[in-house]
Amino acid sequence: MAIESINPATNKLLRSFDPLTDNAARQKIALAAEAFRAYAVVPLEHRALCMRKLAAILEHETKDLATLITLEMGKPFEAAQLEILKCADACRYFADHAARILAPESVPTDHNHSYVRWEPLGVVLAVMPWNFPFWQVFRFLAPALMAGNVALLKHASNVPQCALAIESLVRRAGFPRGTFQTLLLEVNQVETVLGDERIAAVTLTGSETAGRAIGAQAGWLIKKSVLELGGSDPFIVMPSADLDLAIDTAVRARCVNSGQSCIAAKRFIVADEIYDAFESRFVAGMEAMRVGDPMKEDTQIGPLATVRMVEQLEAQVKAATRVGARVLTGGERMLGEGNYFEPTVLASVPRTSAVYREELFGPVAMLFRVQELNEAIEIANDTPFGLCASAWTRDPAEQQRLVSELQCGGVFLNAMVASDPRLPFGGIKHSGYGRELSAAGMREFLNAKTVVIASAGSANDATGKPYLMSATGTPAAR
Ligand code: NAP
Repeated sequence: MAIESINPATNKLLRSFDPLTDNAARQKIALAAEAFRAYAVVPLEHRALCMRKLAAILEHETKDLATLITLEMGKPFEAAQLEILKCADACRYFADHAARILAPESVPTDHNHSYVRWEPLGVVLAVMPWNFPFWQVFRFLAPALMAGNVALLKHASNVPQCALAIESLVRRAGFPRGTFQTLLLEVNQVETVLGDERIAAVTLTGSETAGRAIGAQAGWLIKKSVLELGGSDPFIVMPSADLDLAIDTAVRARCVNSGQSCIAAKRFIVADEIYDAFESRFVAGMEAMRVGDPMKEDTQIGPLATVRMVEQLEAQVKAATRVGARVLTGGERMLGEGNYFEPTVLASVPRTSAVYREELFGPVAMLFRVQELNEAIEIANDTPFGLCASAWTRDPAEQQRLVSELQCGGVFLNAMVASDPRLPFGGIKHSGYGRELSAAGMREFLNAKTVVIASAGSANDATGKPYLMSATGTPAAR
């Protein structure tokens, strides 16, 4: 089946591509494996030079690349430009910090010299989603390439032009041939590619369904995997919060990327004392969001990326209302061409309903009234997901409890959740495992090789006797 690039604002076909044949995919894997052997020993300074050149090209071509994003998946143009600039920042961050992160770590032991040496794993397959078609790829590729791995990208089937543009950018930045290749694959070809013994590891950002498939196969093959999956992040507002700022941020946090972000706030959990004020002003804020042509400068919410996404959201909202949820605003797919959905606020979603436990991937918020902090934390954690959380309170005791009791990969107090190259990003529970970004993300696809160098003549070294640390921290012979 052809891989089609369709403009979600009009649903008109932009371009169509034939997927790679299995044979062509094998040739690209062979090229990647060959490239790895040479690239793994390319000096770090040279990799950094290419990475900085990549950042410069991204900045130089921001408008063209952002146009591609907006045309293929409907992101408002201004946000698309910011996405490209964020990719450039990540390239520079990993170019600047790779030497520190990859430096051997000396560990004092009984031996003459012991240290950890970080080595690249090889060819990493990246299976990526369409919602941040550049950022999702760059936050993997910048650390992976700086670390000496090479990459194959299977991008989401609705953003083939973005996928090919990224391959061209990496090549033009001077990275050696085969270091980064885009494979235009159908989803059912991923299993064969991952099964190829020349692929060392896999990273997936996407849905739970894809996560189960790839995680299961990687487990069976005993290949390292990182899964960044869905989220239904809570946004908790307590009485001491700066309510103006919390409400403004709540609207932005729900509508970021037209609501199609794993870390968009999706469940708004508000203390009874301020609930009524929050509800009326939040609803007004959602109603004021400008929905429309994503190429227009003042558009805040564009179309959803595909017909499937808008149909799924419509079905979820209808299912919620059938079981008693109240629609405070919106609730409908918008008439006319394109995949537009009204900014929507739901209240009274029963905690026993299916939708309560699902991710709503579009501009639809669920509101919950709670009596006190215990209940807020209980609802926040009552989800299969565990990506991130935003919580608003000026009370230090509440802050402390929220930081320690929220079950997720990141807690943002009095701030909107956002990814940052300097900080680890990822989730727990059904939001996946492993981390991206920061030193933690870079090390996911590295071998932490233990190196012990014995000094000839030392008693321990001569006998080769294995040592364990005792409970008191002193070495004890086994
Ligand atoms: P998706 O259907 O899982 O697609 C993501 C990628 O996985 C695409 O390249 C897709 O290929 C591929 N894929 C799908 N099913 C697969 C399978 N069975 N085996 C191998 N590959 C498979 O996800 P989506 O619905 O497009 O994207 C939205 C989801 O991604 C949401 O749940 C969102 O929360 C999550 N997400 C998570 C993060 C994070 O960092 N945690 C960030 C962004 C998005 P095709 O396009 O060819 O189907």
